[in-house]
Amino acid sequence: SGRWARAMAIVKEFEEKCGTPDAKLKQVADAMTVEMHAGLASEGGSKLKMLISFVDNLPTGDEKGVFYALDLGGTNFRVLRVQLGGKEGGIVHQEFAEASIPPALMSGSSDALFDYIAEKLANFVDEEEKIFHQPPGRQRELGFTFSFPVMQTSIDSGTLIRWTKGFSIDDTVGQDVVAELTKALQRKGVQMRVSALVNDTIGTLAGGKYANKDVDVAVILGTGTNAAYVERAQAIPKWHGPLPNSGKMVINMEWGNFMSSHLPLTDYDHALDVESLNPGEQIFEKITSGMYLGEILRRVLLRIAEEASFFGDDVPLKLKIPFVLRTPEMSAMHQDTSSDLRVVGVKMKDILEISNTSLKQRRVVVELCNIVATRGARLAAAGILGVLKKMGRDTLRDGGPEKTVIAMDGGLYEHYTKYRKCLENALSELLGEEIASSIVTEHSNDGSGIGAALLAASHSQYL
Ligand code: ADP
Ligand code: MG
Repeated sequence: SGRWARAMAIVKEFEEKCGTPDAKLKQVADAMTVEMHAGLASEGGSKLKMLISFVDNLPTGDEKGVFYALDLGGTNFRVLRVQLGGKEGGIVHQEFAEASIPPALMSGSSDALFDYIAEKLANFVDEEEKIFHQPPGRQRELGFTFSFPVMQTSIDSGTLIRWTKGFSIDDTVGQDVVAELTKALQRKGVQMRVSALVNDTIGTLAGGKYANKDVDVAVILGTGTNAAYVERAQAIPKWHGPLPNSGKMVINMEWGNFMSSHLPLTDYDHALDVESLNPGEQIFEKITSGMYLGEILRRVLLRIAEEASFFGDDVPLKLKIPFVLRTPEMSAMHQDTSSDLRVVGVKMKDILEISNTSLKQRRVVVELCNIVATRGARLAAAGILGVLKKMGRDTLRDGGPEKTVIAMDGGLYEHYTKYRKCLENALSELLGEEIASSIVTEHSNDGSGIGAALLAASHSQYL
């Protein structure tokens, strides 16, 4: 019928606009490399902040003692205690607790957010005290993983540049987040020193390196997306401090804010951006990461409902609610293997209150999931290629290919299998067979928490 044809025309147009042929991905990768250079050259030189992490040495394996970590990333936050065994001892023991951030605290006051975190940490420490006793006279030390753009002023201080991923607490912006946390810890009576402030990408890089010496890049695909890598200190013109002995500096790219005219952006993406808490910012993140994929899908479904009566004469009301369709639900629909797409039917009914969808309609939903996820995954692969290019790891060297391991983490990467496979295939495709064999992506399970504890250890006041 005319309606069906109209819906298909909208889907087809969306698919075309989302296209990511290899040639386009290579342009995106080249643009990423160019922006990396610009961001390293001067402060504000690029949309890529290329933040200096003050981490100039990654874990060696010699770290020893009991350290805490706190990971505030977006949806969830985790506290953990890690006992490090020193040389060849590895991780002797680890305990963790997890909590979600109540949505109200994401746009409340800074004190309310940090008090909540400090309280959870206090409870954890109390529980832990039953098992592990802090030696008298020795202060507990904590690595704080804070996955938002921060201008670091040292390894244990840094001011929040801006919130992302749905957080918007005005009075934290411009503040030293370590001071904010420390004050809250004092208010709650928790004896603890924050010895390292790290981004989750830096934590993942550190945790990854501890597990595998070939790790030199870390990529997060969770609520948001970001990457970090090991740069030569001399290749950072904007760094005017003393050159570290290692000659290296870990860079937090904040690649979620990457933007390029080569990015395949659609009207849906523009509308999502305009209506977001941070318009004009985090464009790469808004087309690749977990917070947004389900929302893009919702927008396309709404359009075919409105303009082609795809779900009948009335537009389903639920479909008009922003962010009602979450990425985990989208991935469940996309990966539905049942012959009648039963999962799609159930999700459409439960989340959107659209009952009695036909198999034909469900197939269209799956097709849309595929378009949205494929674009995101392939662009993430292009981003990785851009980083490898900057590091000179995308071509064969004299001594044969240099092995590079990319530590990957985040709920999107971990749980959305089709997305992960698509990313891996795209990366191999872009690198070519010969180089691809020396580049490995590896899941670094909770590397960011362990990494933060490791960095707290290597920056301990007791060394
Ligand atoms: P954060 O990024 O907030 O630190 P995670 O790394 O755990 O936290 O990522 C959580 C995000 O991962 C969720 O917001 C969601 O977008 C995505 N995610 C979680 N589970 C799934 C899933 N089953 N399928 C697809 N995406 C998922
Ligand atoms: Mg995280």
